[in-house]
Amino acid sequence: MLDTYAKLNGTTYCQQACNDCEGACPYGVPISDVLRTRMYATDYQDVEFAKDEYALLDVNASACLSCSGDPCRDACTHGLAIPDLCAPTHRMLA
Ligand code: SF4
Ligand code: SF4
Repeated sequence: MLDTYAKLNGTTYCQQACNDCEGACPYGVPISDVLRTRMYATDYQDVEFAKDEYALLDVNASACLSCSGDPCRDACTHGLAIPDLCAPTHRMLA
């Protein structure tokens, strides 16, 4: 069952503990924290909690709205398309 879940969510699920993408964003977006708040909304279906947690971030993903995404595009060692996830997260939770 876990393998099935991993296959279904492997391209969107951020394993925050790895943090291999740290420092990839020149604008200081804390990618793993942003994706953690996304997980609260999309996986846990708790949008209000996700918004509360997103509001606590010192730096949010607003920069992603006008960024090409090139700096972080290949930064995830688990194959997540970071630019495609962070900007929508900001739109959803800001
Ligand atoms: S490298 Fe990928 S899986 Fe790891 S924290 Fe960053 S986005 Fe998440
Ligand atoms: S899309 Fe741009 S602003 Fe957003 S995390 Fe990636 S490099 Fe940073």
